[in-house]
Amino acid sequence: MEQTLSIIKPDAVKKNVIGKIIDRFESNNLKIAAMKKIELSKKDAESFYAVHAERPFFNALVEFMTSGAVVVMVLEGENAVLKNRELMGATNPKEAEKGTIRADFAKDIDANAVHGSDSLENAKIEIDFFFANREIS
Ligand code: ADP
Ligand code: MG
Repeated sequence: MEQTLSIIKPDAVKKNVIGKIIDRFESNNLKIAAMKKIELSKKDAESFYAVHAERPFFNALVEFMTSGAVVVMVLEGENAVLKNRELMGATNPKEAEKGTIRADFAKDIDANAVHGSDSLENAKIEIDFFFANREIS
């Protein structure tokens, strides 16, 4: 069993589609092992996306991720990391396959509805960033 970190980003929270996105996970055998709705501080967003600090879109990304509440989840299941990435679709919603979360709920790369860990190693780091062990079950 793997665990991965998922974030429903501010654009999707504002569109009121939290439940519809969670349904994609549950319908595909991913269990919600932990979940909370929070507002990220600038410092939270900067640390979480530190790997992108040198990218031209970094400031816009931090601005966007702090523009409203997000829902942070630990998803658990077989091949959870890869399965979540498949359900999400490509980073740019315009290139995402039909039926993926980003194709169905997002318009452009700046506001693309969801985050998902890209490897098992990063999943562990990202889960630790948001959750204490006792919050995951
Ligand atoms: P993913 O979220 O699919 O793992 P990345 O890790 O490459 O994608 O990028 C993190 C986030 O930064 C993306 O989800 C997106 O919100 C934003 N981003 C990535 N590339 C761009 C870009 N070229 N222009 C604007 N925002 C971007
Ligand atoms: Mg990424």
